[in-house]
Amino acid sequence: MTVLYKRVALIGLGLIASSMAHAMRAQGLAGEIVGHAKSAETRDIALEIGLCDRVCTTAAEAVQGADLVVLAVPVGAMAEIAGEIGPRIAKGATVTDVGSVKRAVIAAVAPLLPAHVTFIPGHPMAGTEYSGPRSGFATLFQNRWWLLTPLPGTDPARLERLRGLLTAIGARVDTMDADHHDLVLAVVSHTPHLIAYTMVGVADHLAQVSNSEVIQYSATGFRDFTRIAASDPTMWRDVFLTNKDAVLDVLGRFTEELFVLQRAIRMGDGDLLHAYFTRTRAIRRGIIEAGQDTSAPDFGRVASTKSTGS
Ligand code: NAP
Repeated sequence: MTVLYKRVALIGLGLIASSMAHAMRAQGLAGEIVGHAKSAETRDIALEIGLCDRVCTTAAEAVQGADLVVLAVPVGAMAEIAGEIGPRIAKGATVTDVGSVKRAVIAAVAPLLPAHVTFIPGHPMAGTEYSGPRSGFATLFQNRWWLLTPLPGTDPARLERLRGLLTAIGARVDTMDADHHDLVLAVVSHTPHLIAYTMVGVADHLAQVSNSEVIQYSATGFRDFTRIAASDPTMWRDVFLTNKDAVLDVLGRFTEELFVLQRAIRMGDGDLLHAYFTRTRAIRRGIIEAGQDTSAPDFGRVASTKSTGS
């Protein structure tokens, strides 16, 4: 057990922060874990289940004396928090965030932090459709990517220290430019979520398919859409509002592909459909080979703690 940070302040105590708390505690990586969440209810639960050593009623209080501050609130709340904690952060501290979008978070947060702190934006590509302080678990980040988008001139020693913490809690860490991150995420996460929300909405609107049939026969593919479409509404609203350009770009490409397949179906072009599905099957195999999912026929859906890589 090596203590990597003497005091870690978790701002926001939902799925990601509570998973970090469990994982850091399991490995003894933080001398002290201090937390803050907006509602008294979440703060009380955090105390009750022993998520943090201390829970503070304000974010400004929570960050005092911390050498690592983690912003784990919805993307739309990052600026408000940064404005509140900026004047109270200890000299030399590292601040990171876990927001699903990077360019907008950097634009909102970086100008509000004092020059003496190092801001290293980040994004764990791990998640489930559950939220709140009780939803976290220590293995959420196991073998999942955690992307860091350091700003130019970031102190390499601080970056390595943060990388050390994230690696110790099981993540595979990579660094990239924020704009590139947002485009990649629009392809692998944001647009698929939008499509899942849409498909579930379509089923809901189809009056001739009764609700009971939708549920009874859901195992045929629809079930996976519903799981994704159950993801937190606040988080996903903020993702689409802040990664607008990349999502609209990918959505445009998606619509074009959909028209290609729609036309092939209409024209009875089986060769095109077969070739297309052969290519997509190879992508799925690549994901399994890369260890990012299992080949189990039920998608490895063994427990509610399955990480989706959001
Ligand atoms: P969550 O479970 O919904 O928790 C959000 C937490 O933020 C709650 O504790 C909430 O407090 C707190 N919060 C919201 N507004 C606040 C404010 N103004 N001041 C202080 N606390 C505030 O969310 P999450 O899934 O952990 O997501 C957190 C961040 O991680 C988001 O930026 C999201 O984009 C990112 N992320 C999520 C996933 C995922 O799959 N869930 C994956 C990767 C990254 P209350 O409970 O009191 O409302």
